[in-house]
Amino acid sequence: MGHQPAHEPKALSASGTATPASLEAGRLLFAAESKFSTAAGGPDSIPRPTLPEIAFAGRSNVGKSSLINALVGRTSLVRVSRTPGRTQQINFFELGGRMMLVDLPGYGFAKAPKQVVAAWNALVETYLRGRTTLQRTILLIDGRHGIKDSDRITMSMLDMSAVQYQLVLTKADKVGVKALADVLAAAGNEAARHPAAHPDIMAVSAWNGDGLPELRATLAALAQPLSEKRP
Ligand code: GDP
Repeated sequence: MGHQPAHEPKALSASGTATPASLEAGRLLFAAESKFSTAAGGPDSIPRPTLPEIAFAGRSNVGKSSLINALVGRTSLVRVSRTPGRTQQINFFELGGRMMLVDLPGYGFAKAPKQVVAAWNALVETYLRGRTTLQRTILLIDGRHGIKDSDRITMSMLDMSAVQYQLVLTKADKVGVKALADVLAAAGNEAARHPAAHPDIMAVSAWNGDGLPELRATLAALAQPLSEKRP
């Protein structure tokens, strides 16, 4: 007992793994046109899978809308600062005909009625189940606070979805270097205990752009190759 996971988590901002070519591939993909594709308000309206998908999940207010907007270099592709918990739908955004960015509804807001939590579970579990095109789920964690219990519930759910997920810490601009290193290390240790969690943890800021080129590079490696782009 008390045995630590054998592998050392690579708690980096991922700059250690990105190459100039992968950064350029990320820049290119996210410079392409992004547009709203469709929304699913319930399990029955989830669209049929087409392009490779990246899903973004996180607690309400974690900075998910701001991050997606910052990644695509737009201010309002996704609406920021909605009333927490009001929007229980999945939004699909197409990126350059090569990838679908999937904005899952936020969770963990205070005093959520039981029906809201149940609706969230039904919608998200239906989406995750057997989604053949889903390449990875990006699970956003507030960099100021680290992993919370509601994130742990989501991690357990994602462990069962058979698709890899990756933790990304948000609002890095609000966290000092030492505190961020501590949160990265703690998150890396915890991720190492989850079978479906990617060992690399990234830290980003939608506000000052830190970590965005590296995250774009990571996601571009999962997109439809340029040569297979649909017309
Ligand atoms: P969502 O509910 O997860 O979509 O979160 P939002 O994108 O609406 O952001 C929630 C709040 O966090 C807003 O007040 C944002 O301005 C703020 N926020 C988002 N991203 C960042 C960031 O990178 N740094 C800082 N300091 N604040 C952020």
